[in-house]
Amino acid sequence: MTNNKIYFIANWKMYGTLKSVQSLKTVIKLKKMQNYKNAKIIYCPPFTLLDQFYKKIKNTQIELGAQNCHFNFEFGPFTGAVNSKMIKNVGCKYVILGHSENRSSGESDKAINLKVKSCLKEKLKIILCIGETLKERRKNKTNHILKKQLINGLKNIKNKNNIIFAYEPVWSIGTGVVPKSQDLEKQVIQIKNFIKQKFRMKDPKVLYGGSVNPKNASILKQISSINGFLIGGASQNVNKFIDIVKKTIN
Ligand code: PEP
Repeated sequence: MTNNKIYFIANWKMYGTLKSVQSLKTVIKLKKMQNYKNAKIIYCPPFTLLDQFYKKIKNTQIELGAQNCHFNFEFGPFTGAVNSKMIKNVGCKYVILGHSENRSSGESDKAINLKVKSCLKEKLKIILCIGETLKERRKNKTNHILKKQLINGLKNIKNKNNIIFAYEPVWSIGTGVVPKSQDLEKQVIQIKNFIKQKFRMKDPKVLYGGSVNPKNASILKQISSINGFLIGGASQNVNKFIDIVKKTIN
């Protein structure tokens, strides 16, 4: 990784209780060290923990994000849902959108596009996930799928400055399988080139997500086109998360 800022985004998925908030202490301590000045650490716990997390991380260098958001910008009768205003209100700066775990349960590109618009209105930064399934990859449809997700997800959005991207091959998420370094490097370059050409973004940030762990971090960090990691499973264990940061930076 060549860039100054390296992203480490912890996606806790549907894990974590009040007790797990304590683990932040170690990460806050690490972030204070000069060595980790360039590490941009963003925690995305479940909605139920956002307020507690905010209390712990405010006035620190750790930032907060939500894992999803409802597409409706206004408040409304949507039982169980949370909108961008609510997310902003509890201290989040970021939102993960388009995660494959939501796409696979029916979230459409159109809904993602509305979510992006709603979050941008609230001045939240977006981590937009894109990725192909194994079936799509085997049919050589990877680029087609990624382009479709990008074009539809960002339809009619003029200012894309607050959007960063996460390339997460679905077959890598939670499976322990990571793409070959050469393939990943090539894929991320292709994504960046497409974003630059299609959306006129000068220097898009693209993270990699999918089974990142302390063992493969040293290999993945050598891929120069990647601007950081979106980390699921391993981020729920503070020692593993810290180890990934250390192995990437040092
Ligand atoms: C994710 O949830 O975005 C993810 C990459 O998960 P994992 O690291 O567990 O594969």
